[in-house]
Amino acid sequence: MQVSETRQKMNRVQQFRLYLDNTQSLDDVYNLLNQLSSDVLDMYPHIACRTQCNSCCKGTSMPAITPAEWAKVHDYLLRFYTEEQREALITRTREMYNPRKALYWGVHDTIQQPANMDKLRSFREVLTQLTDTQCPMLVNETCSVYMSRPAKCRAHGGFLYVFGEYTQLHACESEVEKMEIKLKEQGSRNVLMPVWNDFEARIVEKFNEPNATSTILPIWLLTHLHKGELIEDAVAEPDFEAFREKDM
Ligand code: SF4
Ligand code: SF4
Repeated sequence: MQVSETRQKMNRVQQFRLYLDNTQSLDDVYNLLNQLSSDVLDMYPHIACRTQCNSCCKGTSMPAITPAEWAKVHDYLLRFYTEEQREALITRTREMYNPRKALYWGVHDTIQQPANMDKLRSFREVLTQLTDTQCPMLVNETCSVYMSRPAKCRAHGGFLYVFGEYTQLHACESEVEKMEIKLKEQGSRNVLMPVWNDFEARIVEKFNEPNATSTILPIWLLTHLHKGELIEDAVAEPDFEAFREKDM
């Protein structure tokens, strides 16, 4: 990488809030996330997220999705999935959800908490019980909604996540451990990365209705079925409580 190119990437990451404030659509935010993620991975070559890793789509990682992001996934499922693919998606989502519905709602409830250490503890408690699941959109080890994937899926590995006083790499445990080793080697805890929480706040506040509820993809999908088929229009605020106790 040439020096001017490196400087350009560093400037972009340093000024990410300015770029973020200028986003006018969810697509703008997605494009910015893609660009910054690529910039950060270029600056920190030890981060493994570039290698088509899909471990984030399995087990303990359950991205929180706002209604506006779900609407994009929903639209993608209607336009680009075949009827058979949608049927298979609904079946595998139900198979994962029904035996574990209390845990899935545990994740849902945790998502609604403010970002602090209690929330981090709640996530650790509930997510560690979901290691045998995966995102229903993961098909043949690949994200089947890649072009419409939610913001959080675009931010793995290259962003910081702030929980109250505590800041960590927005990544899997092995990447967090690797980063800790790098920080010890460099002798300081300074890292140049955008903050995921700022993106989350922008998406919630600017591109969703006030007080919109975020939840996980399996719950979004299962609250959008009628007679076993995906309904035509995405609903920003389904009656989540009506679904909580049901098998779906
Ligand atoms: S954070 Fe970890 S699991 Fe996720 S993409 Fe990066 S290397 Fe893979
Ligand atoms: S939407 Fe795609 S990238 Fe995101 S968790 Fe699901 S499979 Fe992975």
